[in-house]
Amino acid sequence: MIMPSKYQGYMGEMLDINLTSGTVGTYDVSDRDREKFIGGKSIAAKILYENLAPGVDPFGDENILIINTGPLTGSGAPCTSRFNITTKSPLTGGICTSNCGGSIGIHIKKAGYDGVIIRGKAKSPVCIEINDNDVQIKDASQLWGKNTEETQQSLPKKMGKAVIGPAGENRVLFASIISGERAAGRAGAGAVMGAKNLKAIVATGAKNVPIYKPEEFRKNIKDWINILKNHPITGESLPRYGTAGFLNKISICHTLPTRNFSEGTFEHAEEISGEALAEKYLIKNMGCPSCPIKCGRQVEIDGKAVKGPEFETIGMFGSNISNRDLWAICEWNRIMDLLGFDTISAGGVIGFAMELNKKGLWKNGLEFGRIGEIPKLLEDIAYRRGIGNELADGVKKLSEKYGGADFAIHAKGLEMAAYEPRGSVGMGIGYATANRGACHLESGYLVFFERIAPINIDPYDTRSKPAYAVMQQNLLEAVNASGNCLFTTYASIPAAAFRIKPYGTSAKLISKLMSSGHLILDHAGALPPSAMPIHFFSMIPHTLVISNLTGMKMTLGNFLAAGERGFNMARLFNLREGFGKEIDSLPRRLTHELQIPNDPRTRVQLNKMLPKYYSIRGWDARGVPTRSHLRKLGMDAYALD
Ligand code: SF4
Repeated sequence: MIMPSKYQGYMGEMLDINLTSGTVGTYDVSDRDREKFIGGKSIAAKILYENLAPGVDPFGDENILIINTGPLTGSGAPCTSRFNITTKSPLTGGICTSNCGGSIGIHIKKAGYDGVIIRGKAKSPVCIEINDNDVQIKDASQLWGKNTEETQQSLPKKMGKAVIGPAGENRVLFASIISGERAAGRAGAGAVMGAKNLKAIVATGAKNVPIYKPEEFRKNIKDWINILKNHPITGESLPRYGTAGFLNKISICHTLPTRNFSEGTFEHAEEISGEALAEKYLIKNMGCPSCPIKCGRQVEIDGKAVKGPEFETIGMFGSNISNRDLWAICEWNRIMDLLGFDTISAGGVIGFAMELNKKGLWKNGLEFGRIGEIPKLLEDIAYRRGIGNELADGVKKLSEKYGGADFAIHAKGLEMAAYEPRGSVGMGIGYATANRGACHLESGYLVFFERIAPINIDPYDTRSKPAYAVMQQNLLEAVNASGNCLFTTYASIPAAAFRIKPYGTSAKLISKLMSSGHLILDHAGALPPSAMPIHFFSMIPHTLVISNLTGMKMTLGNFLAAGERGFNMARLFNLREGFGKEIDSLPRRLTHELQIPNDPRTRVQLNKMLPKYYSIRGWDARGVPTRSHLRKLGMDAYALD
């Protein structure tokens, strides 16, 4: 029997749907778990751990797919259309989590649920339709084979949707799930949906998210929107140039992957920058529902206003394959969304294949800078034709077949996002330790503090990065779990900092202080959550907003502890799947080859950073969370020793 939650902000139950038996039930999440993990990604990691036996085939009936929201999802707070998809990844064999701002999350809550767990496998293509309390598994044979736009257009207009395209049907290992115009892209959740014969999920309802203190909550929202709108990044740069607005700076700072991560600066960066996109092709900015930032781009293709590319796509399909044609990237971005696969992994695997060809390891006809065949190649990946069939398995599997492991740019099997970590070594420790693989967001996104923010921590300093990586990974995990967009955390750097001269004396002093900040942060893990019984509304508004939304005591300490639990839960899942310390690694190119000749700082010294990272996390020398540390987190039941 489902126990009603004492907390507001949650709808109180999750749907539990078995496609093999065609049954629909509910799944109980306790208030204790809500206090410990908040929701979304972090509770989903616990559900995955508890409901999956070790070693199951990601494409087998036993794998489960969890679509989960956080308390903030659909609450009316800024940037809270976010939901998370969690499953066992067919690409990495570890945990797959993918956060998305599309329409389905809000609508699942409107229907009265916090999330949906999908088990088993349908005999033929189906669509799950959730209409308030009425949940049906419907035949979707007529949708099979359609692209993601055709599929969404064939489904009821006013419902939230999550669908797959041909890539998911054909089990491309990095197939995405598309919801509205947004993608849950990384690590292959779309392929798991395809393996379950699940073409689409749609939801709607008339329920509202309950609020604990409506008046205070509304005031918090107003203040939060003001902070976001008046901040140089969330109020100016992101709305005007989108995420691609960082591209020029990232290239100048040796952090833009170029020709399969062999270099960090692209000679044509300006031509593919956010500024160029805004000047030449932008119709308007757009965003996920409930977002005042609106970092998304809209461009016109074939007479139609469609979603434009983001930084990651431009990096991976621009500099990474030596392409300066921004318009082509806009078109390919659309093709990949229609076919339903991840643009980051696709750019990574094509760049790797180009280098394999160049080095004579795999004669595939692909060359850096030659882009005429890319549209056909993208189709071939989705339909698993010719060399597309091999590219569809990702960089790691290609390197196992053709060699080139030293420059196979992935971590844990997930292709690296568009930040070259030799120019930003904090990204290096982050990529290596992120649970889903080389993800820029789960890594902790230290490039923000190393290169993007107005005052930077030395991007080559290795002493401070383990502590900053741990802190940021925990923070972003908690923000994600709460149902909020990670981009709201750009505003955690006070707007006043942007008025300081970047290379002036004050900037240098603050930068030094930030680098020394690790002396405190190195020991933060030893503190109990009660050590930070505070809110910093102007920097991290999430804690007060969640408190007033739910009635939960969500201090900064509790928030970071929840993030830490979620991160550890995912780590434990991976360890149980047989991942060991060796999996916290990066390709040799990044750890041993200098990006800038004769500059010894320009490599990721992982061997220096990893032991310290483990120690700060409370993990042993093998990277396993110790029982005593898990006990501190209230998770000792999951200790592996
Ligand atoms: S900031 Fe961008 S990604 Fe985040 S919610 Fe807004 S539009 Fe979506």
